[in-house]
Amino acid sequence: MSTTDDKQTRKNAKHKASMEKQKSNVDARIEEASIERGVAILLTGNGKGKSSSAFGMVMRALGYGQKVGVVQFIKGQQLSGEEIYVREQCPQVTFYQMGTGFTWDTQDRSGDIEAAVRTWAVARPMLEDPSFDLVVLDELTYMLAYKYLPEDEVIAALANRPPEQSVVVTGRGGGAALQEIMDTVSEVKDVKHAFNAGIKARQGVDF
Ligand code: ATP
Ligand code: MG
Repeated sequence: MSTTDDKQTRKNAKHKASMEKQKSNVDARIEEASIERGVAILLTGNGKGKSSSAFGMVMRALGYGQKVGVVQFIKGQQLSGEEIYVREQCPQVTFYQMGTGFTWDTQDRSGDIEAAVRTWAVARPMLEDPSFDLVVLDELTYMLAYKYLPEDEVIAALANRPPEQSVVVTGRGGGAALQEIMDTVSEVKDVKHAFNAGIKARQGVDF
């Protein structure tokens, strides 16, 4: 055997040993995770990928025939592909949108609060209904940041939801109290965004 072959054989054996070790570690961790219940997920940060990730989970849940509710806070003026798809192709999804457009468009604080409260009145019963497997509260964090909704009430509703129900909250920020009660918190980091290079928001990608 040549020295190159020898080197390859040693490299392969080392790789195999390392993979075996990794597998046993992962298997042990999987074995340890014994709690069966719904999870509360916060997708936050300044990068792109929060709402689209939430809709990825909607697709997963629908794949198993689960019952899904989606409530979108803020967005309303700009139609999105996910809205069109869910409304037209997924009659089994309970979908509600606040529908006032972005705050900096409306510039009407009392109108915004009214819309937020009306939208929360749709979201809250979902968080009390055990027939929902997955509830997505898209852009909810802004309602807390602007104090449009009472934080205590929102947090209590999230924390006291049915044990089998999972909930996904998206939006930048969200605050320490919200992060505290969520099981999974992922921060999407803005490394770079096409928009900053002058590239227009793209149908099917950005909305
Ligand atoms: P997406 O819906 O694409 O997953 P998101 O939910 O993470 O994005 P939002 O803050 O809700 O982000 O903004 C939605 C829109 O703004 C999308 O069109 C997205 O591409 C764009 N966007 C997100 N992050 C940035 C950013 N850092 N700079 C510029 N535009 C952004
Ligand atoms: Mg979003």
